[in-house]
Amino acid sequence: LLKIEGVWKHYHGQGVLRGVDLEVAPHEVVCLIGASGSGKSTLLRCVNLLETIDDGAIHLDGTEITDPRTDADDVRRRIGMVFQAYNLFPHMTVLENITLAPRRVHGARAEEAEARARELLERFGLAGKADEYPDRLSGGQQQRVAVIRAVATGPRLLLLDEVTSALDPTLVTEVLGIIRELKDTGMTMILATHEMGFARDIADKVCFLEGGVLLESGPPGQIFTEPRHPRTRAFLQRVL
Ligand code: ATP
Ligand code: MG
Repeated sequence: LLKIEGVWKHYHGQGVLRGVDLEVAPHEVVCLIGASGSGKSTLLRCVNLLETIDDGAIHLDGTEITDPRTDADDVRRRIGMVFQAYNLFPHMTVLENITLAPRRVHGARAEEAEARARELLERFGLAGKADEYPDRLSGGQQQRVAVIRAVATGPRLLLLDEVTSALDPTLVTEVLGIIRELKDTGMTMILATHEMGFARDIADKVCFLEGGVLLESGPPGQIFTEPRHPRTRAFLQRVL
Protein backbone atom coordinates (compact mmCIF):
# COMPACT_ATOMS: atom_id res chain seq x y z
CA LEU A 1 0.00 0.00 0.00
CA LEU A 2 2.82 2.38 0.92
CA LYS A 3 6.46 2.16 -0.10
CA ILE A 4 9.10 4.54 1.23
CA GLU A 5 12.40 4.24 -0.61
CA GLY A 6 15.69 5.83 0.33
CA VAL A 7 14.09 8.97 1.73
CA TRP A 8 16.40 11.81 2.78
CA LYS A 9 15.34 15.02 4.45
CA HIS A 10 17.62 17.84 5.60
CA TYR A 11 16.99 20.89 7.75
CA HIS A 12 19.69 23.52 7.52
CA GLY A 13 22.15 21.03 6.04
CA GLN A 14 21.47 18.54 8.84
CA GLY A 15 20.24 15.08 7.79
CA VAL A 16 17.01 14.46 9.73
CA LEU A 17 15.97 11.44 7.64
CA ARG A 18 18.88 9.53 6.19
CA GLY A 19 17.92 6.97 3.60
CA VAL A 20 14.75 5.59 5.17
CA ASP A 21 13.18 2.50 3.55
CA LEU A 22 9.83 1.23 4.77
CA GLU A 23 6.98 -0.77 3.27
CA VAL A 24 3.48 -0.88 4.68
CA ALA A 25 1.07 -3.60 3.56
CA PRO A 26 -2.73 -3.18 3.48
CA HIS A 27 -4.25 -3.48 6.99
CA GLU A 28 -0.81 -3.35 8.54
CA VAL A 29 -0.16 -1.29 11.69
CA VAL A 30 3.35 0.11 11.88
CA CYS A 31 4.70 1.80 15.01
CA LEU A 32 7.64 4.19 14.80
CA ILE A 33 9.66 4.31 18.01
CA GLY A 34 12.84 6.17 18.87
CA ALA A 35 14.14 8.99 21.04
CA SER A 36 12.91 12.54 20.77
CA GLY A 37 14.37 14.11 17.61
CA SER A 38 14.97 10.78 15.85
CA GLY A 39 12.76 11.80 12.92
CA LYS A 40 9.42 10.08 13.57
CA SER A 41 7.23 13.14 13.02
CA THR A 42 9.29 14.26 10.05
CA LEU A 43 8.77 10.89 8.38
CA LEU A 44 5.00 11.10 8.90
CA ARG A 45 4.95 14.64 7.53
CA CYS A 46 6.88 13.53 4.46
CA VAL A 47 4.32 10.77 3.80
CA ASN A 48 1.52 13.34 4.04
CA LEU A 49 3.47 15.72 1.76
CA LEU A 50 3.59 18.36 4.47
CA GLU A 51 7.36 18.28 3.85
CA THR A 52 9.21 17.88 0.59
CA ILE A 53 11.90 15.21 0.54
CA ASP A 54 15.45 15.80 -0.71
CA ASP A 55 16.04 12.34 -2.15
CA GLY A 56 14.24 9.03 -2.56
CA ALA A 57 10.60 8.34 -3.34
CA ILE A 58 7.29 7.52 -1.67
CA HIS A 59 4.65 5.44 -3.45
CA LEU A 60 1.01 5.16 -2.40
CA ASP A 61 -1.03 2.47 -4.15
CA GLY A 62 1.61 2.28 -6.85
CA THR A 63 1.69 6.01 -7.59
CA GLU A 64 4.78 8.03 -6.79
CA ILE A 65 3.30 10.74 -4.59
CA THR A 66 6.65 12.51 -4.19
CA ASP A 67 6.73 13.16 -7.94
CA PRO A 68 6.48 16.98 -8.18
CA ARG A 69 3.68 16.59 -10.73
CA THR A 70 1.48 14.77 -8.20
CA ASP A 71 -1.50 16.71 -6.88
CA ALA A 72 -0.69 17.01 -3.17
CA ASP A 73 -4.32 17.79 -2.25
CA ASP A 74 -5.41 14.58 -3.91
CA VAL A 75 -2.83 12.63 -1.92
CA ARG A 76 -3.93 14.25 1.35
CA ARG A 77 -7.51 13.29 0.54
CA ARG A 78 -6.35 9.67 0.64
CA ILE A 79 -4.34 9.99 3.87
CA GLY A 80 -5.76 10.89 7.28
CA MET A 81 -3.57 12.45 9.93
CA VAL A 82 -4.00 13.10 13.65
CA PHE A 83 -1.53 15.16 15.63
CA GLN A 84 -0.49 15.28 19.27
CA ALA A 85 -2.57 18.28 20.28
CA TYR A 86 -6.14 17.79 19.26
CA ASN A 87 -6.88 20.51 16.79
CA LEU A 88 -10.61 20.51 16.50
CA PHE A 89 -12.19 23.72 15.27
CA PRO A 90 -13.39 25.33 18.51
CA HIS A 91 -16.26 27.26 16.92
CA MET A 92 -17.82 24.14 15.39
CA THR A 93 -19.76 21.34 17.07
CA VAL A 94 -18.43 17.79 17.08
CA LEU A 95 -20.73 16.93 14.18
CA GLU A 96 -19.65 19.98 12.17
CA ASN A 97 -15.99 19.17 12.80
CA ILE A 98 -16.44 15.65 11.46
CA THR A 99 -18.57 16.51 8.43
CA LEU A 100 -16.51 19.49 7.25
CA ALA A 101 -13.92 17.61 5.17
CA PRO A 102 -16.33 15.05 3.69
CA ARG A 103 -18.54 17.93 2.52
CA ARG A 104 -16.00 20.54 1.46
CA VAL A 105 -13.17 18.37 0.18
CA HIS A 106 -14.90 15.20 -0.93
CA GLY A 107 -18.16 16.73 -2.10
CA ALA A 108 -20.41 14.52 0.01
CA ARG A 109 -24.02 15.65 0.48
CA ALA A 110 -24.77 17.10 3.91
CA GLU A 111 -27.24 14.37 4.92
CA GLU A 112 -24.85 11.66 3.77
CA ALA A 113 -21.89 13.15 5.66
CA GLU A 114 -24.02 13.62 8.75
CA ALA A 115 -25.35 10.08 8.72
CA ARG A 116 -21.85 8.70 8.41
CA ALA A 117 -20.57 10.97 11.20
CA ARG A 118 -23.39 9.88 13.55
CA GLU A 119 -22.66 6.25 12.74
CA LEU A 120 -18.98 6.72 13.64
CA LEU A 121 -19.80 8.62 16.83
CA GLU A 122 -22.17 5.83 17.81
CA ARG A 123 -19.60 3.15 17.09
CA PHE A 124 -16.96 4.90 19.18
CA GLY A 125 -19.17 5.71 22.12
CA LEU A 126 -19.64 9.43 21.51
CA ALA A 127 -23.19 9.47 20.18
CA GLY A 128 -24.33 11.89 22.87
CA LYS A 129 -21.68 14.45 22.00
CA ALA A 130 -22.59 15.25 18.39
CA ASP A 131 -23.91 18.73 19.17
CA GLU A 132 -21.37 19.73 21.84
CA TYR A 133 -18.56 22.19 21.23
CA PRO A 134 -15.00 20.84 21.74
CA ASP A 135 -14.37 22.82 24.95
CA ARG A 136 -17.21 20.90 26.60
CA LEU A 137 -15.40 17.57 26.03
CA SER A 138 -12.57 15.96 27.97
CA GLY A 139 -9.14 15.81 26.34
CA GLY A 140 -9.61 12.12 25.63
CA GLN A 141 -13.02 12.72 24.04
CA GLN A 142 -11.62 15.55 21.92
CA GLN A 143 -8.83 13.34 20.68
CA ARG A 144 -11.30 10.57 19.86
CA VAL A 145 -13.32 13.07 17.83
CA ALA A 146 -10.08 14.10 16.06
CA VAL A 147 -9.50 10.44 15.14
CA ILE A 148 -13.09 10.04 13.93
CA ARG A 149 -12.72 13.21 11.87
CA ALA A 150 -9.59 11.80 10.25
CA VAL A 151 -11.32 8.55 9.22
CA ALA A 152 -14.66 10.12 8.21
CA THR A 153 -13.35 10.67 4.69
CA GLY A 154 -12.47 6.99 4.32
CA PRO A 155 -8.68 7.36 3.96
CA ARG A 156 -6.48 4.58 2.61
CA LEU A 157 -3.93 5.25 5.32
CA LEU A 158 -4.05 6.88 8.74
CA LEU A 159 -1.03 8.62 10.27
CA LEU A 160 -1.05 9.19 14.04
CA ASP A 161 1.62 11.31 15.68
CA GLU A 162 1.86 10.93 19.47
CA VAL A 163 -1.91 11.11 19.74
CA THR A 164 -1.86 10.35 23.47
CA SER A 165 1.11 12.35 24.69
CA ALA A 166 -0.88 15.49 25.55
CA LEU A 167 -3.33 13.51 27.68
CA ASP A 168 -3.63 12.57 31.34
CA PRO A 169 -2.77 8.91 31.84
CA THR A 170 -6.41 8.20 32.72
CA LEU A 171 -7.54 9.47 29.32
CA VAL A 172 -4.90 7.63 27.31
CA THR A 173 -6.72 4.31 27.54
CA GLU A 174 -9.86 5.52 25.78
CA VAL A 175 -7.89 6.95 22.86
CA LEU A 176 -5.84 3.77 22.54
CA GLY A 177 -9.14 1.88 22.57
CA ILE A 178 -10.42 3.68 19.49
CA ILE A 179 -7.13 3.00 17.68
CA ARG A 180 -7.43 -0.67 18.52
CA GLU A 181 -10.97 -0.70 17.15
CA LEU A 182 -9.77 0.91 13.94
CA LYS A 183 -7.17 -1.81 13.61
CA ASP A 184 -9.95 -4.36 13.93
CA THR A 185 -11.77 -2.69 11.04
CA GLY A 186 -8.65 -3.22 8.91
CA MET A 187 -7.40 0.38 8.81
CA THR A 188 -3.79 0.69 7.66
CA MET A 189 -1.92 2.91 10.11
CA ILE A 190 1.48 4.34 10.91
CA LEU A 191 1.84 5.58 14.49
CA ALA A 192 4.68 7.50 16.06
CA THR A 193 4.52 6.67 19.74
CA HIS A 194 6.33 6.76 23.06
CA GLU A 195 3.86 4.22 24.49
CA MET A 196 5.94 1.07 24.25
CA GLY A 197 3.29 -1.11 25.84
CA PHE A 198 0.78 -0.01 23.26
CA ALA A 199 3.24 -0.43 20.37
CA ARG A 200 3.94 -3.93 21.56
CA ASP A 201 0.26 -4.65 21.76
CA ILE A 202 -1.05 -3.21 18.52
CA ALA A 203 1.82 -3.14 16.02
CA ASP A 204 2.32 -5.68 13.29
CA LYS A 205 5.70 -4.09 12.72
CA VAL A 206 7.82 -1.88 14.96
CA CYS A 207 10.46 0.40 13.44
CA PHE A 208 13.26 1.88 15.52
CA LEU A 209 14.62 5.22 14.32
CA GLU A 210 17.78 6.87 15.55
CA GLY A 211 19.27 10.01 14.12
CA GLY A 212 17.06 9.72 11.05
CA VAL A 213 18.16 6.18 10.29
CA LEU A 214 15.73 3.27 10.45
CA LEU A 215 18.08 0.97 12.34
CA GLU A 216 15.85 -2.02 12.81
CA SER A 217 12.32 -3.17 12.14
CA GLY A 218 10.40 -6.32 12.86
CA PRO A 219 7.43 -7.81 14.67
CA PRO A 220 7.03 -6.48 18.23
CA GLY A 221 7.80 -9.89 19.72
CA GLN A 222 11.24 -9.71 18.17
CA ILE A 223 12.05 -6.01 18.61
CA PHE A 224 11.03 -5.88 22.26
CA THR A 225 12.46 -9.20 23.40
CA GLU A 226 15.47 -9.80 21.16
CA PRO A 227 16.47 -6.60 19.37
CA ARG A 228 19.34 -7.26 17.00
CA HIS A 229 20.86 -3.83 16.97
CA PRO A 230 22.80 -2.73 20.09
CA ARG A 231 21.34 0.80 19.68
CA THR A 232 17.80 -0.60 19.78
CA ARG A 233 18.70 -2.56 22.89
CA ALA A 234 20.17 0.55 24.53
CA PHE A 235 17.07 2.61 23.70
CA LEU A 236 14.67 -0.01 25.05
CA GLN A 237 16.67 -0.38 28.24
CA ARG A 238 16.28 3.36 28.79
CA VAL A 239 12.53 3.52 28.19
CA LEU A 240 11.17 0.19 29.40
P1 ATP B 1 9.62 13.60 19.24
O1 ATP B 1 9.65 12.21 19.80
O2 ATP B 1 10.16 14.60 20.21
O3 ATP B 1 8.32 13.99 18.67
P2 ATP B 1 10.60 13.09 16.55
O4 ATP B 1 11.22 11.74 16.45
O5 ATP B 1 9.21 13.22 16.08
O6 ATP B 1 10.73 13.60 18.05
P3 ATP B 1 11.18 15.12 14.61
O7 ATP B 1 10.16 16.08 15.06
O8 ATP B 1 10.91 14.37 13.36
O9 ATP B 1 11.55 14.08 15.76
O10 ATP B 1 12.54 15.92 14.47
C1 ATP B 1 13.71 15.34 13.94
C2 ATP B 1 14.80 16.40 13.89
O11 ATP B 1 14.46 17.38 12.92
C3 ATP B 1 15.00 17.16 15.19
O12 ATP B 1 16.39 17.32 15.39
C4 ATP B 1 14.32 18.48 14.96
O13 ATP B 1 14.97 19.49 15.68
C5 ATP B 1 14.48 18.67 13.47
N1 ATP B 1 13.36 19.43 12.87
C6 ATP B 1 12.08 19.01 12.81
N2 ATP B 1 11.30 19.90 12.18
C7 ATP B 1 12.12 20.93 11.83
C8 ATP B 1 11.94 22.18 11.15
N3 ATP B 1 10.72 22.52 10.68
N4 ATP B 1 13.00 22.97 10.98
C9 ATP B 1 14.22 22.60 11.43
N5 ATP B 1 14.47 21.45 12.08
C10 ATP B 1 13.45 20.63 12.28
MG1 MG C 1 7.47 13.89 16.96
